[in-house]
Amino acid sequence: MTATWTEPGNTPVALLLLGKGSDPASERGVDCPGDLPAPSDPDLVARATAAKAALGDRVFVLGHHYQRDEVIQFADVTGDSFKLAQQAAARPDAEFIVFCGVHFMAESADILTTPQQKVVLPDLAAGCSMADMAVLGQVETAWEHFQDLGIADDVVPVTYMNSSADIKGFVGRNGGVVCTSSNAKRALTWAFEQGSKVFFLPDQHLGRNTAVLEMGFDLDDCVLYDPHKPHGGLTDEQLRDARMILWRGHCSVHGRFTVDSVREVRERVPGVNVLVHPECRHEVVRAADHVGSTEYIIKTLEAAPAGSAWAIGTELNLVRRLALAHPDKQVMFLDRTVCYCSTMNRIDLPHLVWALEELVAGRVPNQITVDGKTAHEARVALDRMLSLP
Ligand code: SF4
Repeated sequence: MTATWTEPGNTPVALLLLGKGSDPASERGVDCPGDLPAPSDPDLVARATAAKAALGDRVFVLGHHYQRDEVIQFADVTGDSFKLAQQAAARPDAEFIVFCGVHFMAESADILTTPQQKVVLPDLAAGCSMADMAVLGQVETAWEHFQDLGIADDVVPVTYMNSSADIKGFVGRNGGVVCTSSNAKRALTWAFEQGSKVFFLPDQHLGRNTAVLEMGFDLDDCVLYDPHKPHGGLTDEQLRDARMILWRGHCSVHGRFTVDSVREVRERVPGVNVLVHPECRHEVVRAADHVGSTEYIIKTLEAAPAGSAWAIGTELNLVRRLALAHPDKQVMFLDRTVCYCSTMNRIDLPHLVWALEELVAGRVPNQITVDGKTAHEARVALDRMLSLP
């Protein structure tokens, strides 16, 4: 049976790059020193193959599931952000880790690898708009307010893996833990054993969905802390009463899916299973049949019976690959229009070729390093996650 895949149409409106009041200039590109090959260069695949062969075991290439096919074909391993950081740590002999993903992932790889290993991000403009929504100064301002209110001792900070190293460091030095979309419930359970409130960064949706749908909290137990408003836009009473203080951050990709997307696909494809990532809005997750991390989505599709139909609410590169990998199932994108992660897509074949050829030439391009103090504190929060029961 041949895979049936219908490419979604062009997105009619701009992606929610940085939420309301976004500054498009903040997503500007970063020039690469040296010669970046032209995308039209017919020898790109041959050049990447040759450069990777020349480096041999000295290089290990990591590819996030949301990367383009042209890049994924050169990955030694594919995975979500945490699996890739673990894979980097498991390769202490690789001198260079080329991270085809986004900036916070490369930071985590640098934290978890040895000081001798060098982590390279082929395009420095590959950031994450969600991670950028929590800036250390804003988070420290919020924490000072919690201290002034006398609630800080009751609050345990929990940050999603999708956050910068300095946010992970903040969480580490304040008794908190990192979580992924796979272990968020375990991390929150641990956090509520340490204190009566959780300060969840930076993805409001993962925090709310986990607390309400998996742990039995009410929506009223959650408040939304807006860093652009004085005191987060919350009264002292709201902060004192809250169990979950959610940071106002979201993923611009998963935030696109709506209840209308779910309703529309159910009308169009009777019997369809709707499977979404927990970074989607609460009402979308409630309307779906299944919710889970990227790895969960992949495993669910593998276990699904032939002939079943699936509408997937996650990044488009991954959904397309799943559709092609499962020609016996009807796999479709939950939205009718294109929805790539614009920053993930910054890593393309020209940037990968450039990075690999620079390494062959003895230069280390775009190295990502985390300073020792931040790395140590972030490691504390990551180690707490690794030892979760
Ligand atoms: S998919 Fe969302 S969370 Fe992931 S890198 Fe892109 S913007 Fe960030």
